[in-house]
Amino acid sequence: MTYLYEPYIKTKIQRRWFEKMDYLAEKFSERADHFDREGRFPFENVNDLKKAGYLSLTIPKEFGGEGLSLYEFVLLQERIAAGDAATALCIGWHLGSFLELSEERTWDDTALRHLCEKVVQNQALVNRAATEPATGSPTRGGMPQTKATVDGTDWIINGTKTFTSMAPALDYAIVSAQIDDTGKKGNFLINMSQDGVKIEETWDTVAMRGTRSDDLIMENVRVGSEALVEEERGKSGLPKAWLLHIPACYLGVAIAARNEAVQFAKTYKPNSLPGPIGDVPEVQRKIGEMELELFKARELIYSVAAKWVNEPESRMEMGPSLLAVKHVATNSAAKVVDLAMRIVGARSLAMSSPLQRHYRDVRAGLHNPPMDDMVISSLAQRALNTKGD
Ligand SMILES: Cc1cc2nc3c(=O)[nH]c(=O)nc-3n(C[C@H](O)[C@H](O)[C@H](O)COP(=O)(O)OP(=O)(O)OC[C@H]3O[C@@H](n4cnc5c(N)ncnc54)[C@H](O)[C@@H]3O)c2cc1C
Repeated sequence: MTYLYEPYIKTKIQRRWFEKMDYLAEKFSERADHFDREGRFPFENVNDLKKAGYLSLTIPKEFGGEGLSLYEFVLLQERIAAGDAATALCIGWHLGSFLELSEERTWDDTALRHLCEKVVQNQALVNRAATEPATGSPTRGGMPQTKATVDGTDWIINGTKTFTSMAPALDYAIVSAQIDDTGKKGNFLINMSQDGVKIEETWDTVAMRGTRSDDLIMENVRVGSEALVEEERGKSGLPKAWLLHIPACYLGVAIAARNEAVQFAKTYKPNSLPGPIGDVPEVQRKIGEMELELFKARELIYSVAAKWVNEPESRMEMGPSLLAVKHVATNSAAKVVDLAMRIVGARSLAMSSPLQRHYRDVRAGLHNPPMDDMVISSLAQRALNTKGD
């Protein structure tokens, strides 16, 4: 299996972190079925990641973190996801939030330092809660119905967020809200133990069950003026490279499915054949197709991540490439899982087979941002709006 990962491990630091996560991912894969069946948040996995110092991976060095880049983030997230996709997606939201904050620097330095310290010293878990029933995906630009109202020097926050991954484990949520009647959006840092903050256990899905992406309900939550941490998210105009943790996650699912199918093809010997089904040309064709899909998608994600890191001057123009990675990777991942299940046959549908979980989990990638239609229309817009070509 090392040939899948070796080409993308380039430095000693990457190798050190990869080995740590490789060890943990093996443990996570043994626990994955349990968390999935129970629909339970993988506290044990997140505790292991905390002990390994993983929560500080993308926190800038100046704030006590590891200061690792998008490239390492993608590499490690993909490996974790091959062990347990729900754990990877959850921790990806946390680390991605810090990568975004450290690259965008839209927060006041003191506020960012303060939150980073909570992670480095106390292993605090943070996520953005941006989705609402009325707006759907925030990437579509809808106005949040969650409202922040001024009361003296405080803000009073009321509203409901859906799809809040890690709901039972979060220490802080960065919540989008409409600011009074200004028609403007802002982001507020909410301590989850604050009065008026509640979790409603609504997460009852077939995919990514362990993420516990429950509803976050805020009823008259009183916060100080400093809780308004961002008045305009993304004002730097930098493309959202941190979202590459999403394609990395679903590629991890695909790798797990591929490994399962290849192992099956090597060992399953029905008595109608002289050897294992891996000798059958049709099975080899399917294995080759899985390898091709993974090669295409992984070369793309790693080359785009490397470009982001090594050519900072190109970042502003990289939006379409980043979008394309998400489209290619999540669709390739779904295709790989499908091929893996065709190789294994009906056994892949058994509840005891990890493939049925990969089949369900990989579907969630289509509904994480950016969605396919947005990617395709952005690419079309660029083609139509570029002069001279
Ligand atoms: C496993 C998982 C974990 C998640 N974790 C988080 C989290 O931690 N925090 C968080 O904030 N969110 C989270 N999300 C939410 C996610 O980012 C999306 O907001 C959510 O999946 C809703 O997206 P949607 O496309 O299904 O819904 P909608 O945006 O409601 O779209 C539904 C359908 O309507 C169409 N549609 C809607 N609006 C438009 C439009 N303007 N133009 C064209 N078509 C439109 C879409 O194409 C789609 O087919 C998570 C989602 C999943 C699946």
